[in-house]
Amino acid sequence: MKWKGTKLASIFGMTCPRCQESKLFEDPNPYNFSKIFDMPERCDKCGQKYEVEPGFYYGAMYVSYALSIAFLVSVFVAMLVLYPDFTVTEYLVIGIGGLIVLTPPIFRLARAVWINFFVKYDPNAVENWKHHKHD
Ligand SMILES: [Zn+2]
Repeated sequence: MKWKGTKLASIFGMTCPRCQESKLFEDPNPYNFSKIFDMPERCDKCGQKYEVEPGFYYGAMYVSYALSIAFLVSVFVAMLVLYPDFTVTEYLVIGIGGLIVLTPPIFRLARAVWINFFVKYDPNAVENWKHHKHD
């Protein structure tokens, strides 16, 4: 199976959903808090706008909520398997602590998932954009 061109390649690579050639975020480090949400206005390779419309990323809140729940469930299952005698307090400390540490990457992942709901991969996007600019 080809990895490039799949939604997962764009989501986990944090790349443009349309051409998958350039990065969605200006600083690849999600823990640089001053730039956590900084995205270029559009893709410099294919011209795809990253803020598809004003307020586009409000909907990503629901995705980060779902990802957070999925994380808490995974921690619960992992603890059941690895350390079945855990207490509620231990679960809360590990679950909430982990969630706090992972919030920046979860926010970004949610944006990448969200834009991939709306924008499809197009293998000709870069060529088309070059052509468009020279017209
Ligand atoms: Zn692009």
